[in-house]
Amino acid sequence: MANILVTGGAGYIGSHACKALAQAGHTPVTFDNISTGWADAVRFGPLERGDLLDRARLDEVFATHQPAAVMHFAALSQVGESMAQPGKYWRNNVSGSLNLIEAAVDAGCLDFVFSSTCATYGDQDGVVLDENSDQAPINAYAASKRAIEDMLRDFENAHGLRSVIFRYFNVAGADPDGEIGEQHIPETHLIPAMIEAIQGKRDGLTVFGDDYDTPDGTCIRDYVHVSDLVDAHVLGLNWLKDGKGSRVFNLGTGSGFSVREVIDASRAVTNREVPHTIGPRRAGDAVKLVSGSTRAATELGWTPKRSDMATMIADAWRWHQGEPYSA
Ligand code: UDP
Repeated sequence: MANILVTGGAGYIGSHACKALAQAGHTPVTFDNISTGWADAVRFGPLERGDLLDRARLDEVFATHQPAAVMHFAALSQVGESMAQPGKYWRNNVSGSLNLIEAAVDAGCLDFVFSSTCATYGDQDGVVLDENSDQAPINAYAASKRAIEDMLRDFENAHGLRSVIFRYFNVAGADPDGEIGEQHIPETHLIPAMIEAIQGKRDGLTVFGDDYDTPDGTCIRDYVHVSDLVDAHVLGLNWLKDGKGSRVFNLGTGSGFSVREVIDASRAVTNREVPHTIGPRRAGDAVKLVSGSTRAATELGWTPKRSDMATMIADAWRWHQGEPYSA
């Protein structure tokens, strides 16, 4: 039972991680600048406002809370934006993480759980994506995440920092209790954008390209429920506490869904049509990203429980019909 510093704890995945940590008996201390997250989402432990680019503020928070470990979620995470504004991604994600890692090492906090991404594998259709696959990012978001993975390895060699690196596939759904969920302004991710289109909150969904080399021409992704994903983080924390050493884990289910298949699945769950049009491809998109690893299951004992497409859409749909965060 310990204080865990959760950067980005006011964001979508970070807030669900805080809930899972609190349920496991820990105190999640959120560090967040509330630039894309929501103070309303911080319900399971204290909120420390601050920016990762502010090293003095980080030192203050480490001194106040003496965390036993860091879970690092805070990041800019939009593929399209990263292609248009790479500097923003290198500064916030890479420089911010460097500050955080140095502050953690200086505070003697040497257990580190990091949110990385399957996008670091790039575009390798036909290749089974396991943790030993080549990393060849094709967008600045993924490049920034891979740089942080490299940084963690260098700090392990020099300073003994131990890390569990999770490479997420596509995270979806919302807290099964309906207490917290996903809210981005503007929304760019497929499932919430699709729900906004159904609700008439946007002018329909644009499908980013239907001329890919896939059975229906749209991109294929591996979707995992946010509550399953954060369960893996608690297991990852225990892994480090048990002294098992640094490890990388893919977090995906191994099932691929095309954009069209997600739209079809949502029709069945919501009983509504998704108004949509076909647009051009989005820069930086890989054709297909599906996990080909069972390492998280076999080594961590991770068993996804809600990661079937219908449940993910149903949980997201329920959340989006409720009261959104206002602050
Ligand atoms: N996508 C889409 N329209 C949208 C948002 C996403 O067609 O409004 C597609 C996107 O091109 C990708 C998939 O849906 O193939 C998942 O995209 P998302 O942004 O949700 O996650 P990413 O894979 O970029 O992390």
